[in-house]
Amino acid sequence: MHEEGASRREALQLGAGGLMAAMALDSTRAFALTGDMAGLEWSNNAMRWVQVAFTEDDPPNYDPQFWFDLFRKTHADAVCLSAGGCICFYPSKLPLQKRAKYLGDHDMFGEMVKGAREQKMSVIARVDPHAMSNEAFAAHPEWAACTVDGKPRRHWAAKDMWVTCQNGGFMFDFMPQVLKEIADTYQPEGFFGNRWAGSGMCYCNTCRMLFRTATGMDLPTSDDPQDPQRHAYIAWNAEMRWRQFKLWDDTVKASKADCFFSPNGGMNDPNKVTIPIVAVDRQGRHGTTPVWMMGKFAKITRAYMHNLPVAGIFNVGVEDDNRWKDSVQRGPELAAWMHGGIAQGFRPWVCKFNARVFDPRWVAPVTDIYEWHFRNDRYMRNTENLARVAMINSTQTGIYTAGGAPLTAGDNIPTAQRVTDSQNGYYQALVEARIPFEMADDRQLEGRYIDRYRVLVLPDIAALSDSQCALIRDYVQKGGRIVATGETSLYDETGKKRRNFGLVDLFGCDYVKTENGIKNSYLTPRHPHDLTKGLEDAPRIIAATQQITVKPHADTRQPLTLVPAYPDLPMERVYPDVLETDIPMVFCNEVGKGRVVYFPMDLDRTFWEVLAEDHLVLLKNAVLWAAAEPQPMTVTGPGLIDVAYWRQKNSLTAHLVNMTNPMMMKGPYRQVMPLDGPFTVTLTVPHGVDTKKVTLLDSGKAARWHRKGQTLTIEVPSIRLHEVVAVDLS
Ligand SMILES: [Zn+2]
Repeated sequence: MHEEGASRREALQLGAGGLMAAMALDSTRAFALTGDMAGLEWSNNAMRWVQVAFTEDDPPNYDPQFWFDLFRKTHADAVCLSAGGCICFYPSKLPLQKRAKYLGDHDMFGEMVKGAREQKMSVIARVDPHAMSNEAFAAHPEWAACTVDGKPRRHWAAKDMWVTCQNGGFMFDFMPQVLKEIADTYQPEGFFGNRWAGSGMCYCNTCRMLFRTATGMDLPTSDDPQDPQRHAYIAWNAEMRWRQFKLWDDTVKASKADCFFSPNGGMNDPNKVTIPIVAVDRQGRHGTTPVWMMGKFAKITRAYMHNLPVAGIFNVGVEDDNRWKDSVQRGPELAAWMHGGIAQGFRPWVCKFNARVFDPRWVAPVTDIYEWHFRNDRYMRNTENLARVAMINSTQTGIYTAGGAPLTAGDNIPTAQRVTDSQNGYYQALVEARIPFEMADDRQLEGRYIDRYRVLVLPDIAALSDSQCALIRDYVQKGGRIVATGETSLYDETGKKRRNFGLVDLFGCDYVKTENGIKNSYLTPRHPHDLTKGLEDAPRIIAATQQITVKPHADTRQPLTLVPAYPDLPMERVYPDVLETDIPMVFCNEVGKGRVVYFPMDLDRTFWEVLAEDHLVLLKNAVLWAAAEPQPMTVTGPGLIDVAYWRQKNSLTAHLVNMTNPMMMKGPYRQVMPLDGPFTVTLTVPHGVDTKKVTLLDSGKAARWHRKGQTLTIEVPSIRLHEVVAVDLS
């Protein structure tokens, strides 16, 4: 199964690359191909998506023409429409699939499919299986999810419904019938599954029995990932989700060969499965979410989708824990969130809950985003990202270490806060440094995935298997470079602590101990060294809050040393015992043909907490020293700008997203605040291409530029929200 999946994946990836290269650059809409390429052409061509999530009172009240007009205005190529699962919007013949309350014999789903087809749009059917009706529960009480004391769970919000068990008959017998009925009747291009993987732990008899048969154990009640039952459950749950996915995908393919099932958020093992498009449900900002977060989700998803299309689902409403699902966001926030995603490779996928539109304030801003995207369509069809730096996204570190919550399949975001904070800290630093970078997936560290990068950043990637460490070691020996922080490689892939770092030979020091919560400790920058460039006037800077005691292998002088913590109270005691030490707090090593920077502290996580500019300097310099080559894209000029550098079939694009805004770290934007330059952008042009014309896509102006050797220098007078330097190649 695994082997077959892997080889099929590679075949499809090649297919996708071939198609991307051969594809006409206008937005030709096409439907399915046959054979091995099935499903890919249309999904590659589906650049803009609209999703309408129906509600039960929509059928008699909504205006289908509004939506057909919107599809036209937004140049949408594909649509995702609610079909069935919990509640269906077509006249299902399955007695236990509850029809929407006001559906009657009306076929709302069919009506919308027909209108979309008339506009040559592709259609994805949305199913949501997380709940079932009283009638279904009466017929099959064993389909319900149960609490730890074995009681069936009523739905937490809809009191006349029941939460379904992810491993029982609802998912494994009933849903395949639903999928077959929809696929047979409407022949959609694919299916999108919302809340398809259950709603947390289930303790029903089916789950107890299946888990006992598979592992000989009872279901865990502890959340501790190192508890043996929980440990076994994490792996078992992933396996069950794989089986469920395979059953559903096979079911829809039996009705239509090139159909597919796409789980919300992707699938939990990219080495097993290829989906023609993954849509990522990150609908908006809440709390202190920085505006670059949508771009981060795009990078995380592309890390395993590679050149296959990925779409960013954004909601027209306020996305908040209070769940005002019927609300409307204002234009500047919608634009900032979505353009941040588009710059990093997302295709826009707007989601509207409720087919009725009683607050139309979202329509104009969403149409603006889509018209912009359509106008620049041929520059949005990326074939390659040209970044030379990638940050490893650890899917396993958060699962098994640092108190991480157990895996919920499809959730590829690390769940442990420490891991996430370290990642966000380094992410923020690289955005501020304007270093173009990608994410790499820890499940795909083989040379064919990572050799294109000059530098890999490992922000506290605690859990790494022996074989992952071997791949990274090999990467460095051949000339790759890494920057690692904190407890990177101190645990194996299941979170078992090692006696020493897995990457001990690269770091150049042995692990002794970790201390957290360190207060009032400092670092002494030593000169001259590229790592401390920019800190020449600083006799010392603040240290991190986690410090790792290590034993260096050699006496080499390092550019950063420790001033140990001393009392922070009473004030009379606030003085250091020693002014300086020789204790290294960074290791800058040349290993094989490569370079290694290791910080024995959580500099990135502390940066996320404090945002000290001195730390920014170190985090940035570490990557630049490791790279020891010019970055392929640089930008000078004021402000905070997220960058990306892409290639398309006949062009290059450099994206500049203006994130300079008082609402950058906590939305919503009140207004877009244009940045006045001039900005000077330099691009390293790939060998063998001639540059014909340079255009600024947002302002619509031709740009002043000159080329010297492989370096193209462009002047950008100002950036509104999202400027794109588009270079046509001849
Ligand atoms: Zn169950």
